[in-house]
Amino acid sequence: MDKQKILIVDDSEMNRSILADMLGDEYEILEAENGNEGVAMLQKHSGEISLVLLDIVMPELDGFGVLDMMNKNRWIEDVPVIMISAESGSAHVERAFDRGVTDFISRPFDALIVHRRVVNTILLYAKQKKLVSLVADQIYEKEHRSSLMIDILSHIVEFRNGESGMHVRHVHTLTETMLTALIQKTDKYRLNQTDISIISTASALHDIGKIAIPEEILNKPGRFTDEEFAIMKTHSMEGAKMLEALPFYQNEPLVKAAYQICRWHHERWDGRGYPDGLKGDEIPISAQMVALADVYDALTSERVYKPAFSHEKAIEMILNGECGTFNPLVMDCLRDCADEILEELSGDNTLRQNQREMQNVARELHKYEELTASERTLELLEHERMKYSFFAAMTEEIQFEFNVQPPMATLSAWGAEKLGVPEIIMDPAQNEKVLELLGEDNWQGLADALHATNPSHPVITYDCMIRYKDGPRWARIMARATWSSDEPPRYTGAIGKAIDIHDSRMKLDSLERMATHDAMTGLLNHATAKKRVQERLRDRPDGKYALIIFDLDHFKQANDTYGHMFGDRVLIHVADKLRQSIRDGDIAARAGGDEFLIFLECKMEIEPAVQRIYSALTGKFENFPISVSMGVATIDKVGADYDVLFQAADKALYTVKRSGRGYFRFYDDSMVRTLSAISPIDGGDGTENKTQSNKGECLK
Ligand code: GH3
Ligand code: MG
Repeated sequence: MDKQKILIVDDSEMNRSILADMLGDEYEILEAENGNEGVAMLQKHSGEISLVLLDIVMPELDGFGVLDMMNKNRWIEDVPVIMISAESGSAHVERAFDRGVTDFISRPFDALIVHRRVVNTILLYAKQKKLVSLVADQIYEKEHRSSLMIDILSHIVEFRNGESGMHVRHVHTLTETMLTALIQKTDKYRLNQTDISIISTASALHDIGKIAIPEEILNKPGRFTDEEFAIMKTHSMEGAKMLEALPFYQNEPLVKAAYQICRWHHERWDGRGYPDGLKGDEIPISAQMVALADVYDALTSERVYKPAFSHEKAIEMILNGECGTFNPLVMDCLRDCADEILEELSGDNTLRQNQREMQNVARELHKYEELTASERTLELLEHERMKYSFFAAMTEEIQFEFNVQPPMATLSAWGAEKLGVPEIIMDPAQNEKVLELLGEDNWQGLADALHATNPSHPVITYDCMIRYKDGPRWARIMARATWSSDEPPRYTGAIGKAIDIHDSRMKLDSLERMATHDAMTGLLNHATAKKRVQERLRDRPDGKYALIIFDLDHFKQANDTYGHMFGDRVLIHVADKLRQSIRDGDIAARAGGDEFLIFLECKMEIEPAVQRIYSALTGKFENFPISVSMGVATIDKVGADYDVLFQAADKALYTVKRSGRGYFRFYDDSMVRTLSAISPIDGGDGTENKTQSNKGECLK
């Protein structure tokens, strides 16, 4: 047998492990490290947990919060809770008991005591549960016996009356059948299933007052004299009096119903009945129904003074008003269930009776079940269903559920719309439109993959082309096969969702962006800039291009004086300025550190463009003077090779740095020697620069 489960909710791992050590041999231990987790565990293992050991002071949701949730969900009725806490003040203890804890143990605790109390509590609860179901059984048994008593009692009356013995049964059946029809018609009389059952049971007592009528009158074969009839008529009031005289049970619904029926089942809708001459709905509905049932059964039974009429004839006579006046609604009920009545009364009676008994048993059982666990279970299931359908309706996802038996597929509303199929599809494997969505091969592949899972590894992913309403696209199907708990487990279906692979485009985009851009400034990184420049040179080699490299002057001072974060902001500022000063189609990048790169195409003069950019970059950022040194290489001077262009610009920049900083300079022939010395092939260091005299064509 499985071990019983104990849930320990305590934020201290140490405490949990002490308790787990103490109890782990006999019980399965579940642990939660705060209140929220504890509640989640209770939800997840609902019905399985035999006891909760609960701490008070915890982060997120404390012990009292957990108790509140347990009360709200009515778990506290099924799961005993022992509080273990160092907070042993009486206010705490009181609060805990108020919220339904079974026991309170204060820390530091004696291991033996905790152990004993845990075992006792679990045993006690098990006993209590058994007791509850025993009591329920007994109540049922008792009710069953009392209706048996009523049956016997009413039969005694009948035998004394010389009736068939079936009259009481028939009235019961008729009353029940017509009341059931009545509540489908109107809720005017506010009757529920229990009321119907009480009234039908009580109907058996309608003639109980006949016990008080002298036997000579009761069994007189001929017609009554007026005097005899007057005596006969007293039976209704006599019956009521007998019930009224009962020393106990006056508040029992059954007794109340029986009283009304006894007293008023000879009243008439038009007010001409007895004993009280009540009119219309002054007559309780119970008595109205029994009156009609009584008349019907009298008509269809043979009596000393009359033959038995047929079912049809009896109904016709009643509806024609030949046998008294009745509530039109009640007569409608009779009309509505005429066929049913015939079947009920004329069919195999024992079978009918058994069926009825079975139904009653089922109803009774249902009633008691409702009182105990199943109401909660149903509520929880309903809650889960509601939660599921709410989220399914909210998410823009293709979620699906597939059931093997009955073969059926259900889709989330959004998914059905996206695929252009109904939300519920019966027999999906036979549905052409459904098969078309993935194509038959993929259906088979998917089904095979799901069948090939097992209960411990039920999840699969399956990539395939889906024909959405707006066209085919690649999608990834993630599904979980569902397996029954039989031995061996049966494959019962699957749940899952399909993700449009394009929906994850945004994520891919940002990954791509990380690879191509500098995270801090958002400019391209050097490698990407280089690639783009090379593409441009290849695609449009005839342009008038310039490659610019610039580096901030004395930027270290920004870091040193105001901190590295300030330095970052300077770099971001410079990048912004740079972006603003170039045109669409120009390429700007952070080449590394405080060094940037620009590739521009100049349709007209290049120098004014460089001048403009240069001016835009320099200035102040929060009192920090921004000065840059800039080297420019043009394609007409050095050729259309990226590396050569880069080194020429770098050379020019270097020249500027070496000669005082803070201006831009074009690469020129005076730097040729050095440039060739550091040609891309040999990669020399290029520190030699003998061309300082050429500086200054663009001195600030
Ligand atoms: P120079 O005029 O010779 O260029 O002097 P400098 O102070 O600018 O020195 P250099 O260009 O050689 O060094 C750049 C400095 O920029 C070195 C490093 O501390 C700083 N730096 C590089 N990358 C970053 C960054 O991402 N953020 C910040 N705050 N500083 C950076
Ligand atoms: Mg610098």
